[in-house]
Amino acid sequence: MIENEPGEIAMSSCYTCREPFGFNPETVPSVYVNPATGQVLEEHEDKRTGVKQPICPACVRVINAARQNRGLAPHWQRAQP
Ligand SMILES: [Zn+2]
Repeated sequence: MIENEPGEIAMSSCYTCREPFGFNPETVPSVYVNPATGQVLEEHEDKRTGVKQPICPACVRVINAARQNRGLAPHWQRAQP
């Protein structure tokens, strides 16, 4: 099930699962992708070289849970249940 955010003003496909979802581009959890290689930029890399790609709430939960299992802080705090 796709949960849409209040105040959503954009529609696009999730970068991870490709499901379309509505979101606010100002606040949507996202990753930056190198347009030349298609690889997600790591946190220490220069985000100005990347293209911003939205991540849907379901994928945020999966990614954050995987990070927490590895002892890492969640990427996106806001989308935590
Ligand atoms: Zn997704």
